[in-house]
Amino acid sequence: MEQVSKELRDKYIPTIGLEIHMEQNTKTKMFCSCKNDPDAKPNEHTCPVCLGHPGTLPVINKQACYNIVKLGLSLGCDISKVASFDRKNYFYPDLPKAYQITQLFEPFCLNGSLPICLSDDEVKLIELERIHQEEDTGKSLHTNVKTSTLLDYNRAGVPLMELVTKPVLHNGKDVKNFGETLQLLLRTLEISDANMEKGQMRIEVNLSIMEKNLANKGKLGTKVEVKNINSFRAAEKAVEYEINRQIIALENNEKIIQETRGWDDVNEKTVSQRTKEGSADYRYFPDPDLPEIHVHSTDDSLFDLDEIKATLPELPWELRKRLEEEYSLKGIKAVLFLNNKPLLNFFEKVVSELSALSDKPKEEVINISYNYITSTLPGILTKNNLTLEETDLPANHFATLLNYVLKDEISSNSAKKVIEIMMETKKDPEEIINENNLKQVVDMSAIESIVDIVLKNNTKAVEEYRQGKENSIQFLMGMVMKESKGTANPQIVIKMLKDKLS
Ligand SMILES: [Zn+2]
Repeated sequence: MEQVSKELRDKYIPTIGLEIHMEQNTKTKMFCSCKNDPDAKPNEHTCPVCLGHPGTLPVINKQACYNIVKLGLSLGCDISKVASFDRKNYFYPDLPKAYQITQLFEPFCLNGSLPICLSDDEVKLIELERIHQEEDTGKSLHTNVKTSTLLDYNRAGVPLMELVTKPVLHNGKDVKNFGETLQLLLRTLEISDANMEKGQMRIEVNLSIMEKNLANKGKLGTKVEVKNINSFRAAEKAVEYEINRQIIALENNEKIIQETRGWDDVNEKTVSQRTKEGSADYRYFPDPDLPEIHVHSTDDSLFDLDEIKATLPELPWELRKRLEEEYSLKGIKAVLFLNNKPLLNFFEKVVSELSALSDKPKEEVINISYNYITSTLPGILTKNNLTLEETDLPANHFATLLNYVLKDEISSNSAKKVIEIMMETKKDPEEIINENNLKQVVDMSAIESIVDIVLKNNTKAVEEYRQGKENSIQFLMGMVMKESKGTANPQIVIKMLKDKLS
């Protein structure tokens, strides 16, 4: 499909709302005591309740309710005092009861917002409509035998949360960003593994476009739903594809049909699946088998919201802010730590230990810690096929080592060697440095005499440097390093050269 011009794109405003399903990682299912185990063999965890046998009664999983309240609180939602469950009626082979238990009338969470980072300094709040609790369906496996479909009911009844945003997003990049931030939050709260490829997090996009000059007249475009999105990158692409497709259609005076489309990841396009049925088709009604839940603020309520609030971990956007305030880390530098808690913990411990050891400015302490922990250390770990947790590397040993580097007492190459030996032997760095003779000899008078000789023999480079050719100093340093057979400390040499040339 051709790409519309920027001018044409600017003529229209896309309006996007998201519906995101998130599977909870509770031990058991939503309404029975079957195990919630995504890795089980097909139909290993089923019982009369989740298979929808007549006469069985569902029992509410309290942990799942706790989790959704926790999610709601971290997103600033209004938590309903009373929540209840409804039946959504439709027939499908992977839904043995012929209805799904969900929440239409009294969901757990309303309103709230999720902050996404547009740039280092710009945060946008994406407003939410609601988050409700429901149960997942089973899985249909279409085999290569054309006449048969296999059914796996392990997933039937797994606690599933659905988050609905207000229609406040306008481009694919923000959609991707929203998904990634939400995933980070779910993992931080430890309530969902939120793996897109495994279907533990599923994004549906509702999108319409309208001409800007008609927008203020309240003329909304026709809404199209896009499903089958299996990654955040696909979400971004699907949105951009749909915007483009709809602009071309409208420019050709074609009508946009209200329909459900699927994202075809191979051909990178959306394809029509079915025209959309209205919500009335589902004939929702309150589930007579389930009592309403008194969520909070009454004598018999399930939860104390203040208690839950007090147990919330540091949320991704709070961490982002702290990384910037405490360590001046933002953008891509911060993202690394947002996604890797063990690495972040190690970094914070090392910075604190090193600050106590070193009299260098905090900025230098942070810089060297950041560089060694995010670049040098991962390199060594990968080479040895280890994770940070497996090495059990004590932060205070790492800080002691970095202090030697900061004081120019050992080279960065030696530091790498020390890290490897530390991982192997658990010895402390001082011992390793002494045993292996890794301390740099800083014989100032020896270096000075080499510098003097180099300056005397390279008058052309000296002249050029004085005339402003900064690069010449690199050449001179190279000569000194060569003369010293690599034993001189480069920082000291550069400083000495500059002093002598100024
Ligand atoms: Zn069951």
